[in-house]
Amino acid sequence: MKNPDVLIVGAGPTGLLLAAELTLAGVPIIVVDQALRRSGQSKALTIQPRSAEILHSRGLLEQLLDEVVERLPAGHFAGLEVPLEYASWETRFPCQLGIPQARIEEHLEQHLATYGVQVARGLTLTGLTQDDDGVLAEFDGGTTIRAGWVVGCDGGRSAVRKLSEIAFPGRDGRFSAVVADVVVADNRPGPRGWELPSLVPREGAVMSILPLGDGVYRALFTGPDQQGLTGEVTFDEVARALTGWYGDEVVLQELRWGSRFTDAVRQAAQYRKGRVFLAGDAAHIHSPTGGQGMNLGLQDAFNLGWKLAAYLKDGVDLLDSYHAERHPVGAAVLANTRAQGVLMVPDDDVACLREIFVELMQLPSANKWLTGLVSGLGVRYELPGEHALTGQRMPDLDLGTTSVADLLRAGRHLRLELSDWAEAARVVVRPDGYVLWAADEPAAEWPEFAGAGQALTVRSKASAAAVTPDSERSFAAR
Ligand SMILES: Cc1cc2nc3c(=O)[nH]c(=O)nc-3n(C[C@H](O)[C@H](O)[C@H](O)COP(=O)(O)OP(=O)(O)OC[C@H]3O[C@@H](n4cnc5c(N)ncnc54)[C@H](O)[C@@H]3O)c2cc1C
Repeated sequence: MKNPDVLIVGAGPTGLLLAAELTLAGVPIIVVDQALRRSGQSKALTIQPRSAEILHSRGLLEQLLDEVVERLPAGHFAGLEVPLEYASWETRFPCQLGIPQARIEEHLEQHLATYGVQVARGLTLTGLTQDDDGVLAEFDGGTTIRAGWVVGCDGGRSAVRKLSEIAFPGRDGRFSAVVADVVVADNRPGPRGWELPSLVPREGAVMSILPLGDGVYRALFTGPDQQGLTGEVTFDEVARALTGWYGDEVVLQELRWGSRFTDAVRQAAQYRKGRVFLAGDAAHIHSPTGGQGMNLGLQDAFNLGWKLAAYLKDGVDLLDSYHAERHPVGAAVLANTRAQGVLMVPDDDVACLREIFVELMQLPSANKWLTGLVSGLGVRYELPGEHALTGQRMPDLDLGTTSVADLLRAGRHLRLELSDWAEAARVVVRPDGYVLWAADEPAAEWPEFAGAGQALTVRSKASAAAVTPDSERSFAAR
């Protein structure tokens, strides 16, 4: 194998999107994974609005849209009854898109294959040594790869993180739970729909079951029987849990797969150590509450990809800004999952907190803020500049025959002259869709930014005031 500029360890959603970003920029990479084949299993089931936006801005979403199981028009916070209203944000995707993680991984891997990039499978990382010029990676069985840079996208137990001796502070899980995809004989009355986790545990137990289509259900449960268990999830364990909850109305027929998870929260102290980076679960773990983990990883990859490419292609060094921008975003997600965990505690005092929280969530500004937190739409980076848009995500404005997302497809900076957008007259947008600079005066001089030399300049006299929701499929016709 020829030495790559970048070695990506781990072909989960994070590693595959990073690979797609670097490939788009023409950076030589190798992606390795210990698994001989994709598992086909999906922990995550939905794409949050911000992740939908970033995938769309590279043309990576359209094919998946045809396979959306369900569009969830609202999110939840700690399962409380007031919905999180995505529509309060100016987004083309005001919903969670129900697409299983396995399908996203398969799609990204197929996309990479069109560029001739195949995941090198059956390679388990066991050693990592870096010097001034590069990193030597060693794998089980004796294979070695020397690369300029290594990105650990190898999940919560990341070997890259451990071998690089990057601290992973936080706390262990307080409970252990099971996720299982099952086929059941379901004799319950009433319509089926997506259900939120139950907030009313019975004797210290919680069960949530939701349909995935084709007769398959996703069961999530925890109870006294699950605590302290570490072994494989068995058919009997799942059958017992289902019967305990539903009696004879739900009878387990087949266990497709099962796994254990906890509410452990940990975050890498450094997202970069010399020539090694961490992204996705390798950099942060937390409970699945709110469906944020995969989305956070995709957005890590999207932040790091163009910066690594800018360094390798143009010698522009923005690499430290990856930790500076993404560590606080990860910390905020960890914090919100912990807060949700507290709100879900079955306790009379916490019930009072829930009541207050429900009142607060009905205030439009509070609801919008929480929605932005969980969906990723509220991420704002600390960038220099006075304008209110600086550091915010650029809305995917309709620009006549094109749109901001269409223009971002090449992964380049944009210089936009917008003749009738109320927010600004001139905007510089980064390849990851965040506003680097904005001005209200149409004649404002474009500033020079490192890495923005290849920017695409676009003047739009068209109505630049709207973002059409994807349900109207406006972009499909373009
Ligand atoms: C029950 C449950 C439900 C969830 N639901 C959601 C949800 O609805 N929405 C959401 O956004 N997130 C959800 N998540 C979280 C989400 O699944 C993870 O955040 C996501 O898988 C992280 O992706 P990743 O690519 O960073 O890591 P992973 O998906 O863990 O991929 C890591 C890859 O690295 C490989 N690897 C590991 N070690 C090595 C090694 N030493 N050498 C080589 N390769 C290695 C692995 O084989 C794997 O392919 C859920 C998680 C759980 C447990």
